[in-house]
Amino acid sequence: MSEAMKKYIDEAESALLHTYNRYQIVLDKGEGVHLYDIDGKEYLDFVSGIAVFALGYNYPGYNDALKAQIDKLLHTSNYYYNVPAIEAAKKIKEVSGMDRVFFTNSGAEAVEGAIKAARKYAYLKDGKTDHEIIAMNHSFHGRTFGALSVTGNPHYREAFQPMIGNIKFADLNDFDSVLACVNDKTCAIIMETVQGEGGIYPATEEFLTKVRTLCDEKDILLILDEIQCGMGRTGYMYAWQKYGVKPDIMTTAKALGCGVPVGAFLLNEKVGANSLVAGDHGTTYGGNPFACAAINKVLDLFKQDNIIENVNKVAPYLEKRLDELKDKYDFIVDRRGAGFMQGLVFNRPVADVINKALEKGLILINAGAEIIRFVPPLIITKEDVDDMITILDSCLGDL
Ligand SMILES: *Cc1c(COP(=O)(O)O)cnc(C)c1O
Repeated sequence: MSEAMKKYIDEAESALLHTYNRYQIVLDKGEGVHLYDIDGKEYLDFVSGIAVFALGYNYPGYNDALKAQIDKLLHTSNYYYNVPAIEAAKKIKEVSGMDRVFFTNSGAEAVEGAIKAARKYAYLKDGKTDHEIIAMNHSFHGRTFGALSVTGNPHYREAFQPMIGNIKFADLNDFDSVLACVNDKTCAIIMETVQGEGGIYPATEEFLTKVRTLCDEKDILLILDEIQCGMGRTGYMYAWQKYGVKPDIMTTAKALGCGVPVGAFLLNEKVGANSLVAGDHGTTYGGNPFACAAINKVLDLFKQDNIIENVNKVAPYLEKRLDELKDKYDFIVDRRGAGFMQGLVFNRPVADVINKALEKGLILINAGAEIIRFVPPLIITKEDVDDMITILDSCLGDL
């Protein structure tokens, strides 16, 4: 490491609040599926800022669209209409099949809005204020209080009690555990269609279908968090589109802006017409023209360049190559996931593997202590997969 890089890291550790154990590199720029640190060292990126840079770096047309909007208008208040937000809302409706859009600045804020909409819907039905929400163990929905309250990792919640009230936890893919939590107060069931941070666990079609039927019978709202698994990552624009179910409320963020901080929660007409009204919810920056210009360009490029088609073309190859590693090393016990959201499950911690890969120019990330998570840009080729496997294989061989 250069003296300059070391100096920056020291400065970072004396100025930034230490809420992350950061990898010891200072990133400088990106191009395609590669990142470069300030010493000029190149890295193959299989993290994409944690499922954010779906288009990789400097994707043709994307930066220019942002620059054009910067020169036009960065921000208005939500008290006024702006064209990029109107266009973005129309496009999100089209790709999601949902009916109403509220733009946020982040994923956690989208989850907050989803929870508020669900509680308001239930409140308008019976006037009560003691409604319950069922969430899943091992889930991750964000760090703000509402989102944290439905995050199924007691360690994240413990020091910050009390959470928002009336949350119960069930197990993903265990319908009976959900049934055991349901009562007349239940207003919503929230889950990730594919759990990300908690260890890459896809919801099964059987489970989702049963939960959907239960929700229909009892007028409970199904909230699907698509913040990580959405935006084409599983080979569908939204992961739930693979199944014959549709959420009442869904959240999207991360790759929605491909680097510009933006999210949204989406409602079907039933919830849209019977929940949040003027004065109930708001945001200063959410849905501003700059953020929405990013969404518009991202969704246009997804369509124009068949981004999701590439996922469906290359993902089976990624799975095959990861399965080969699983067969080769007995400390790798499983491979699971969907599309470009894959987890390689070890029977030992993976931190040293990830650090070794970083030294060799490959950026990977974990999902829990014993799982390596693969969430690359959606534009990777089979050659990129081969390059990744070569480096990872050499790190594993060193163990
Ligand atoms: C990242 C993530 C969030 C939180 O999004 P932020 O933008 O970090 O607030 C919520 N849900 C899921 C599934 C996520 O992966």
